[in-house]
Amino acid sequence: MKKHNFSAGPCILPQPVLQQAAAAVTNFDNLDLSLIEISHRDKSFVAVMDEAVALVKELLNVPAGYSVVFLQGGASLQFCMVPFNFLKEGGKSVYLETGTWATNARKESELFGETIIAASSEDKNFSYIPKGYEIPADADYFHCTSNNTIFGTQMKAFPKSPVPVICDMSSDIFSRTINVADFDVIYAGAQKNMGPAGATLAIVKDSFLNNSGRKIPTMLNYETHIKKESMFNTPPVFAVYVSMLNLRWLKENGGVAAIEKVNQAKADLLYNEIDRNPLFKGSAAVEDRSNMNPTFLLTDESKKEKFDAMWKAAGISGINGHRSVGGYRASIYNALPLSSVQVLVDVMKELGKG
Ligand SMILES: *Cc1c(COP(=O)(O)O)cnc(C)c1O
Repeated sequence: MKKHNFSAGPCILPQPVLQQAAAAVTNFDNLDLSLIEISHRDKSFVAVMDEAVALVKELLNVPAGYSVVFLQGGASLQFCMVPFNFLKEGGKSVYLETGTWATNARKESELFGETIIAASSEDKNFSYIPKGYEIPADADYFHCTSNNTIFGTQMKAFPKSPVPVICDMSSDIFSRTINVADFDVIYAGAQKNMGPAGATLAIVKDSFLNNSGRKIPTMLNYETHIKKESMFNTPPVFAVYVSMLNLRWLKENGGVAAIEKVNQAKADLLYNEIDRNPLFKGSAAVEDRSNMNPTFLLTDESKKEKFDAMWKAAGISGINGHRSVGGYRASIYNALPLSSVQVLVDVMKELGKG
């Protein structure tokens, strides 16, 4: 039996996607060649890249005037590419500090110029999303992290910003509807909700490019990749292919609005049990709870050994919390079915019985 995979990332992908990916590794597109041993310029692969980009645009309703590219280096390289491309010489950037990834992004900006923290939730170990802060109107951009994978918080709304908004959506892209026009740049490492590690999605407003006045190394310049349609150099063919299959799967299952409902039902099921069962408590502020990475703690640590044995016996994998929060984190990305959440909830109920 397959495990109930609650891993935070790399994470669960749908079974049919894995099966098609496995088949393509030995014989891709009836070429009698592997997907990973043909030229990326082969028309069979160019069609994959085109379909992946088209699916991103369709599923997220990307308006005209935006480019969609697949890059490498993970979301972590975006932390550097963002200020390199968009923080002007002598300008300033503004960051919302909501967790480890947000902090890592802000630190890269500091290498390039003045970097302001609009607000931070570090005072309470990033267990909430700051609100009511001001974004200076003379900043080059405002950067935020839509979902804090480690701490289990999620921005339910984005602030009205007088300056362009750049968002790291690594761990909740394609999980809920967003209005792309509210952002100038959206980026996401693939391995949380889109595909395997190795590809990074960036959605960039074309009119925002070429404003920093900096000399940008070729590979770190968004324009390079936009002009060459993600084929400036060899793209991560396997990661792009599997991402494309996963986006096809999402489309077949009704798209983002449909999966958002399922994701809400999964989150409600789990949080209801966390709140109902006196043996557990959530670690994030209730109004900021993530629908992707619910984090929770045992109220009675003496039950830990028993609980750990019970969920392992139930075929559950990957719910140990990140070391900076402790406790548990049950990541419930798109591909994880409601039935797997029910298995976890049943174990939690069982533990409560004695
Ligand atoms: C995992 C994660 C990252 C880091 O992604 P890499 O692709 O490993 O560099 C950045 N931001 C968020 C929100 C993440 O969840």
